[in-house]
Amino acid sequence: MKRSVFLFVFLLAGGWLFAQVNPATAVSTNPVNKRWVLVIHGGAGGPVKGTMKPEKEKQYTDSLNKALKIGAGVLSSGGSSLDAVEAVIRFMEDCPLFNAGKGAVLTEDGKAELDASIMDGKTGKAGAVGCVTTIKNPISAARTVMDKSEYVLLVGNGAETFAKTMGLQIVDPSYFITPERLEAWKEAKQKIPPGQPAPSSADKEKKGTVGCVALDTYGNLAAGTSTGGRMMKMSGRVGDSPIIGAGTYAENNSCAVSCTGHGEFFIRNSAGFSVSAQMLYAHKPLKEAADFVIFDILKAKGGEGGLIALDREGNIAMPFSSNAMFRGTVSAGAPAEVKIY
Ligand code: ASP
Repeated sequence: MKRSVFLFVFLLAGGWLFAQVNPATAVSTNPVNKRWVLVIHGGAGGPVKGTMKPEKEKQYTDSLNKALKIGAGVLSSGGSSLDAVEAVIRFMEDCPLFNAGKGAVLTEDGKAELDASIMDGKTGKAGAVGCVTTIKNPISAARTVMDKSEYVLLVGNGAETFAKTMGLQIVDPSYFITPERLEAWKEAKQKIPPGQPAPSSADKEKKGTVGCVALDTYGNLAAGTSTGGRMMKMSGRVGDSPIIGAGTYAENNSCAVSCTGHGEFFIRNSAGFSVSAQMLYAHKPLKEAADFVIFDILKAKGGEGGLIALDREGNIAMPFSSNAMFRGTVSAGAPAEVKIY
C-alpha cells in the first residue's frame, strides 16, 4: 500500500517536472510571463508641427488613446496578440479620422478601395484582402482569410463574396465616404488638368493608414495593417498594406512590423520582411534594423514613411522619415503614451 502511494506521488511529481522543462507542453494555454506590449500607428505623413488645429490634434490623440485602451484590455486579460491587433484595428477602421475603413481616402473616381492584412508570428500564417469596397472591417476579413481559407490574399469581388459567406458585416460602399474626404477629393479633382493623370496625394492627405503590433503574455507576436491607400490612386491600385513582407510582417524569432508610407517603395523593398531579415541574418538589434530599412533603404531611394516594430523581448522601434507619424505604445506596468511628431 505504502509503495503504491509512493509510486503515485512519484509519477505526479515527474509529470509536473516534465511539463515545466518540455516547451511543447508549456505553450499556448499558460502565460509564460506577465509582460505584454502593444504599439499602434495611425499613419505617416501629415502636417508639419504647429500647423494642425489643436482641436483636430486632440481628436487624433484621444482616438489613439482609446485604441491603446482596447488593446491593453485584450492583452492584460490574457488575450492573444492576434486578437489584440484585430480589435485595435477594427476600432481604428470604424473611426472616421483614419484612412482605413470609414474615412478612407478616395480613388480618382471617388470610391473607397480598402486593403488590409494580418500575420501571426507564432505560426507564420497570414491573411489579407485587397481592393475591397463593401466589407465594413477589412482587418477581420484578412483574419478570416488566414483562419478559414487555404489562401493568403483575396482581392475584389472574390474577397467580398468570401467575407459575406463567412458572415462578416457588409455595407454599402457609400458607408466609407466621409464629408471631409469627399471635400478633399473634390478639391484635388479640380486641380487635375484635363487629360492628365491624377497627381500623387496632396501632403495633408498623406496620413491615416492604421497598424498595430503586439506581444502577448504567451510570448507570441502579431502584426496587422489596414488602409484606404493613397488619395486619388488609380482604381485597382493595391499598396503595401495587404502585402505580407511589405506592409505587414511577424515572426516570433525576430519581430512584428506594420508599415505606413509610400506603398510602392515598401513593396519594392520588402520593407516589413527586411526588418526581420536585418535582425535574423545581419544580427542587428530591432531599432538598428528598423532605422536601416526606413532611412538607409527607403529614404535613400526617395520612399517616405515609417513603421512600428516590436520584438519578443518587448523592445519597440518607431522610425519615420515623414513630418509626423501618429503613434502610441502601452505595456504591462507602463502607461499609454501617444505621439504625433
Ligand atoms: N502605405 C499605404 C499605401 O501605399 C499608404 C499609407 O500608409 O499612407 O497604400
